Amino acid sequence: ILMPRKAEAMRAGTPKDAGAGSPEIEIRDLHKSFGDNQVLRGIDLEVDAGEVVCVIGPSGSGKSTLLRCVNLLEEPTSGKVFVGGTEVTDLDVDIDAVRRRIGMVFQQFNLFPHLTATENLTLPQRRVLGRGKAEAAETAARNLERVGLAAKADAYPAQLSGGQQQRVAIARALAMGPEVMLFDEPTSALDPELVGDVLAVMRRLAQEGMTMMVVTHEMSFAREVADRVVFMDGGVIVEQGPPAQVVGDPQHERTRHFLNRIL
Ligand code: ADP
Ligand code: MG
Repeated sequence: ILMPRKAEAMRAGTPKDAGAGSPEIEIRDLHKSFGDNQVLRGIDLEVDAGEVVCVIGPSGSGKSTLLRCVNLLEEPTSGKVFVGGTEVTDLDVDIDAVRRRIGMVFQQFNLFPHLTATENLTLPQRRVLGRGKAEAAETAARNLERVGLAAKADAYPAQLSGGQQQRVAIARALAMGPEVMLFDEPTSALDPELVGDVLAVMRRLAQEGMTMMVVTHEMSFAREVADRVVFMDGGVIVEQGPPAQVVGDPQHERTRHFLNRIL
């Protein structure tokens, strides 16, 4: 059963230490340099609970670095990031506790090849969350079902298509009970005929009210699923707004140039 997105999000994602109405993800004046290379040059972005934001932009524009700064896979050079009202860039914050609240799905699925689909889901629940066997197994089954792979519970990654492996990776992230999900080009490594099933799972997740940041080149997904599209170039947000505006009627030359090349 699909819940109305905002209502469900309010139920599911009430922040523990934030006032009502504060964004689920808040990025303030975020800068990130690698040596002399200024990759992020002042990013301000808010994502509300239940909102789906697609991030688009040319290769090298800083999209992956932005996502990686949100879950602290990269340490920002300056600026602040809040998730659910907690400043994750606070030096005193428990990084592991923060990461548990944020699911991330990469272009490469990174499943353990020697473990079945179920075991790929139960291992992190047991190791990271300390869940017991029965609860981890039950949660694994529920989340494999959620991505349409109940029948593949005992399959090893090599026995699955790329699209199925990516759906297992999504289920693995969901099994940890994240408040937000970050996707970094989740379909870019897939053969074209396998992309649709993965996007369908993401679309359902969006309809269920998950807060999502999605870096993608899939413009039909961005148009249909995103509440907001953010166009990045050169480490800044050039333009953002509803998909009909940013993708359908871009205001900036750089956005038009990018869209002309990929569409
Ligand atoms: P995008 O995802 O938009 O293609 P990235 O965020 O991956 O862009 O990369 C932006 C820039 O940051 C590139 O110039 C890349 O070489 C550089 N970069 C990314 N990660 C690192 C790193 N760990 N060390 C050094 N440079 C990096
Ligand atoms: Mg990238």
